[in-house]
Amino acid sequence: MPMLDFIRSDLTQLQAYTPHPGGEPTGPLDILDTNESPVDLPPELKAKLAWLYQETIATNRYPDGSHHRLKGAIATYVNESATTNTIAPDWISVGNGSDELIRSVLIATCLGGQGSVYVAEPTFSMYGIIAETLGIPVVRGQRLADFSVDLEQAQSQVVAPVRVVFMVHPNSPTANALTAAEIHWLRSLPPEILVVIDEAYFEFSQTTLAAELPQHPNWVILRTFSKAFRLAALRVGYAIAHPSLTHILEKVRLPYNLPAFTQAGAELALQHRGLLLNAIATLQEQRQKMITALSTLPSFVVFPSEANFVYLRLREGGDPELAAIAAALKTEGTLIRHTGGGLRITVGTAVENQRAIARLTAYLHRQD
Ligand SMILES: *Cc1c(COP(=O)(O)O)cnc(C)c1O
Repeated sequence: MPMLDFIRSDLTQLQAYTPHPGGEPTGPLDILDTNESPVDLPPELKAKLAWLYQETIATNRYPDGSHHRLKGAIATYVNESATTNTIAPDWISVGNGSDELIRSVLIATCLGGQGSVYVAEPTFSMYGIIAETLGIPVVRGQRLADFSVDLEQAQSQVVAPVRVVFMVHPNSPTANALTAAEIHWLRSLPPEILVVIDEAYFEFSQTTLAAELPQHPNWVILRTFSKAFRLAALRVGYAIAHPSLTHILEKVRLPYNLPAFTQAGAELALQHRGLLLNAIATLQEQRQKMITALSTLPSFVVFPSEANFVYLRLREGGDPELAAIAAALKTEGTLIRHTGGGLRITVGTAVENQRAIARLTAYLHRQD
């Protein structure tokens, strides 16, 4: 390809994010590599959404750029989920997926050589990827054997020029929630550090730090409709923070970042949250079954999970073998994710999970 002389030289080094490195899934595959809900919206909700589209959305008009109704509904849900009543609609900012909010946070804090970000690996890769596309340096810390952050190292790493700390609660891909010691450390960080707590998997862990936000103007919680709410296709996430911070996030985003259909879908999902979140208990049972079954495989260590996925590592052996396992399962029809030195398997339907376990077990037997 020809060199484009007008492009920033640092971008030529970067790889585009590819959720499915071998290409988009086609055919009858079990998609257990992206942590989505294994089930679609119930047909009656889809019909309702289609009706809303037909009857209430004028496609020739711009959507509500203030997300007024949606923010109100999100604030109600957040208060309910954190048993608090302090979260008013102006504590919410809505994004085209939480990915957009991650980018807004970075634009608002570190762009233009003003700071770096800290991540403890392995963790969600988008923080580092988006930071690098904006020319923002990434400081990478380690985790201990239980996947909690090496806090001693973090103390020394989270100093100027670091301005933003990204933590996932519970973490992806390792599935562990923040420990008391980690939370204590986050509380102790000085006001010049922004703490981002990504609660993408909140509905599966049922543990949130939202009630603490009023005491911490330097904290922001991110959540998404892409996982428990089954709306990955519509792209909607939200930030919860003190209004002085959401006000800034609103400034740096694009004016019509959320299509009208997406707003309608998210509002509908919240109206029917009882129905949608009913599926969580089944998923947690399936998660336990999967952990129990995978734990019988002698070559793997299977970690506890607070999320809708299970993480495992080989007792001996490394990345080439894990890559071979993921590739073999893919040819048999199950997509799983090889990441962070382990395998991450989304909890799917009972049938998908059984197939994943059977295929993995059969693969290991063939290697013996
Ligand atoms: C899936 C996920 C998200 C969701 O991103 P969207 O852009 O809202 O789909 C955010 N953070 C983490 C850690 C995730 O795993």
